[in-house]
Amino acid sequence: MLHWQKRILVTGGAGFLGSHLCERLAAEENDVICLDNFFTGSKRNVAHLLDKPNFELLRHDLVQPILLEVDEIYNLACPASPVHYQYNPVKTVKTSVMGAINMLGLAKRVKAKILQASTSEVYGDPREHPQREAYWGHVNPIGRRACYDEGKRCAETLFFDYHRQNGVNIRVARIFNTYGPRMHPNDGRVVSNFIMQALNGKPITLYGDGLQTRSFCFVDDLIEGLMRLMAAPDDFTGPVNLGNPDEFSIKELAERIVRLTGSSSMFVHEPLPSDDPLQRRPDIRLAMERLDWRPGTPLEDGLGKTIRYFRGIL
Ligand code: NAD
Ligand code: UDP
Repeated sequence: MLHWQKRILVTGGAGFLGSHLCERLAAEENDVICLDNFFTGSKRNVAHLLDKPNFELLRHDLVQPILLEVDEIYNLACPASPVHYQYNPVKTVKTSVMGAINMLGLAKRVKAKILQASTSEVYGDPREHPQREAYWGHVNPIGRRACYDEGKRCAETLFFDYHRQNGVNIRVARIFNTYGPRMHPNDGRVVSNFIMQALNGKPITLYGDGLQTRSFCFVDDLIEGLMRLMAAPDDFTGPVNLGNPDEFSIKELAERIVRLTGSSSMFVHEPLPSDDPLQRRPDIRLAMERLDWRPGTPLEDGLGKTIRYFRGIL
């Protein structure tokens, strides 16, 4: 009989980050259960894993409870792009909050270690720069982004209450903008939008003046950070920032993508969406200290790999 290291559940496993995580966990001889309702993810993202004896794909909506015997849970299920999470905002809140309750209840019952994919959005439109984990954030609770931001904030609350009240072994990662192969080409996020526009010779849509900033982390670096957090000593719950501290304006990002693709696309300005954060950059000292982690992929290299992926699917 085959013997695997651990049985690991990845919710949202057929999505962008989830599919890379499943791939790494399966390659390291774990028995991986990928759970997804395919709202934004797709079977195609994990098709190359389906014939592995240590990989299972489960269609399930996390808003409903489920009982599985597992050692670890990575809770990633939740649409992550503004276009997708605002499509059905009530469902987004349900996925974050009821999904967290269902997964924390499972972790409590089977004594599994559980990691939450939280987000830099818990800092909202930050008044502190760069953002440290101790910052409580500046979030509009009734705006268009609130279904995601407040849903994720409430999920963090639930993680810490299950930890204090029931002794659940938790980890909370605050993920900053991550990009790479298998991003959904139409998810509206800036990296996928700009690459698709550049490759198709369409105008590059800069929202607002394009001077707002983001810090972009390549997917392989991020997955390494998540796995190190799961493997860290039990007294380290986080929250911990995971992201790349190199900060770029959206206009700079557009210029790089145009150069790397050799595109002749022009820039057009469109209105800035409401509550769009002006700047964002992680302070990653905690991750460096406690996880010995820092991202190693420069933006140009990561963009090169992502552009190759998008060329391949076009
Ligand atoms: P994604 O949209 O590609 O993946 C999310 C996955 O969750 C999809 O496969 C989707 O079908 C699934 N899902 C959604 N609702 C579900 C439900 N009710 N039941 C079961 N499955 C459901 O997004 P991603 O970029 O891979 O993000 C993964 C996680 O990481 C999310 O929780 C997101 O909030 C978090 N995160 C991502 C980023 C980023 O830059 N990519 C940044 C911060 C946080
Ligand atoms: N953005 C843009 N053009 C696009 C898509 C996004 O200028 O076609 C901007 C958006 O207004 C935001 C930044 O790029 O300031 C990052 O947007 P994204 O949706 O990727 O993620 P966010 O960090 O806002 O959740």
